[in-house]
Formats: sequence, C-alpha cells, structure tokens
Amino acid sequence: MAPTFTKKPIQLSERSIIIWRVAQTAVWLIGATILICLLFFPLTGIVLFWDILIPVAPALLVISPGLWRNVCPLATTNLMPRRLGLSKRKKLTAKQSGIFSLVAVAALYIIVPLRHAVFNTNGPATAMLIIAMAVIGVSLGFFYEWKSAWCSGLCPIHPVEKLYGGNVFLTMPNAQCDKCMHCVTPCPDSTANVSPDSSKKTSWNRISALLITGGLPGFIWGWFHVPDDASITSIGSFFGVYELPVAGLVITLVIYILLANIIQSKFEHRLTGLFAAAAVSCYYWYRIPALFGFGAWGRDGLLVDLSKIISAWAITGITVALTIFFFYRLFIAEKNRKSWLIRPVKVSAKG
Ligand code: SF4
Repeated sequence: MAPTFTKKPIQLSERSIIIWRVAQTAVWLIGATILICLLFFPLTGIVLFWDILIPVAPALLVISPGLWRNVCPLATTNLMPRRLGLSKRKKLTAKQSGIFSLVAVAALYIIVPLRHAVFNTNGPATAMLIIAMAVIGVSLGFFYEWKSAWCSGLCPIHPVEKLYGGNVFLTMPNAQCDKCMHCVTPCPDSTANVSPDSSKKTSWNRISALLITGGLPGFIWGWFHVPDDASITSIGSFFGVYELPVAGLVITLVIYILLANIIQSKFEHRLTGLFAAAAVSCYYWYRIPALFGFGAWGRDGLLVDLSKIISAWAITGITVALTIFFFYRLFIAEKNRKSWLIRPVKVSAKG
C-alpha cells in the first residue's frame, strides 16, 4: 500500500521557528548537563539519564514521537553540519538505507544488554556511549541529507520509534528539516501510522522490521530478568547478560513469524500493534516497580524508594492501567492516519 501523509506540507513562520529553536536549545542544554553529570557526578548522571529520561521515552514515543524528534539533543547536534551548510547532502540508496535500518536494530540489541554489565552503573561509560553516537551522527551529517543517515537510519532508538509510534496522539510541525528534500522514502516523520514494515523495499528492511517487531517483546522480558552486575570479570559471565534477552527475542520472534503466516495480510498492522503493545507494556510492567522500590533486583533501576509508603497494589494498579492503555491504543483502536510530524514544504532535490 502506498504511504499516506497527514495534512498539507507547511512552512513554519519566523515566530514558530524561534520558539522551536529556543526549545531545542533548552533541551540540548539539559542533555549537555546530563552528559557532564555522567562524566563528573556519575551517581547523579545515572539517575538523570537511566532512571528519569529513559523511562519516560517509551511512553513519549507512543504519544508523540514527533515532539521528541523535534527536540532530541542528539538530533540537534547531528543536524548541525546540515544547518550550517557544511553537508554534502548526499542521498542514501535504498540498499544503504535498508542496511542502516538493520544495523540500527542490531546496535539496539547489542548495546541494551550491556547496561547490566557496564552502563547502568558506570556514568563515564554511558557518557562515552552518547559521545560516540554523537560523533557517528555528526560525521554522517557532513555527507548525508537531513535525517536520512542518523535520525531515520542508524540511530538505535529509531526502530523503537517506528514500532511504538504507529498511532500517535500529537502531530506537530517538523522543526528540524527547513524544507523537505525527500532524503528518505518513505519519510518516517511524514508517513501516517508508520510502522517498521512501512518500507519493504529491500530484504534488509524486511529483516530489520521482522527483528524489531517480533523480537522486542521477548527481548525486553528477558532483559528485566537479568540483574545489574558491575563486577563481571570473565568473558563468559560478560556474555551472560545476553542469554535471557536473546532467548526471549527468539521465542517471541518465532511466535510472530507463525502468526504472520497464519493471519490474512489485511490484519498485519493489527499484529504489529499487538507486538508493539506487548513490548511497551512489558517495559513498564517491570520498570515502574523497579523505579519505586518494588523491583525484583533490589536497588537496580531505583529512582525513589516508596515501598514503605505506598502499597504494592498501587504500583500494580498503575502497571495494569498502562497495559490497558497501550493495548487499546496500539492494538484495538483504529489507526488515526496521523504522522509524527507535518512534512515541510517540498523542494526539488537540487533546490
Ligand atoms: S521531512 Fe523530508 S527532508 Fe525531512 S526527514 Fe522527511 S524526507 Fe527527509
């Protein structure tokens, strides 16, 4: 099915541009502050990054991924070469774009288990990870047009954006791309009800869509059954952090493949929504208790210990309510034909 787009392209007014630049600068400064904390005040930095920013992210991706993509500090940094006129503005081929999408999924599945062995307890290592991503993103920004190489390509969060952002609440103007240069097709920002399999152009795209949609629920389940262990010394125990996440990934991937072969193709988007809802619900099912002192692994992922103040039933109530919300929104509710962002005015590729 050809991609559909919401609303006519719009050009931001001068006033709107100023407001968005202020917002981007403010969020960029918050990001820089977190980075400095991770380097020099690791305990504070870890709480700010892993226990506040990251737990908010999945819900934000369900509600308004466009808001995040408009102000993401890494995006603001990585798009700097383009904004300053220093980019060669090349276009990725369909094959390159597909390879990037698969590398992004692989990076997500490789990096996230390392949180247990390194990043959850090591602020400077987390800072280095963020800096490395910024260096890669900025470097790509010198060569490739707008968001094609990083924000809609190699960023390991992007596959999750496409999985969770299939029925968003809020659409807003695109505050990063000044004008649309058709840098990526279909544009994930401008395509209504985008999903991991919106692009089936190459086998790279199809494999990456399969891995993120089918694998993520089980991967998340497995990840939450591994404790943080900063004292890992042997290679064997280091790779042990991958065992349960990969086992979970394989199990739900097989279930997904079986279901995808059974159901009619017109229900494919429902299946994607079902697995998206399962993944984000599983995340909060374990993450919220851990944040408030009811986690299975003691102080792992603890933000504030409320275990002596509120009942465990209150936490269960919140997680059940969130699960109902995610399943309704992503699986049951009709697709609302909204995109994350409204496409800016298009110009010719040479414009
Ligand atoms: S809106 Fe246009 S320029 Fe911006 S990311 Fe999408 S396709 Fe690229």
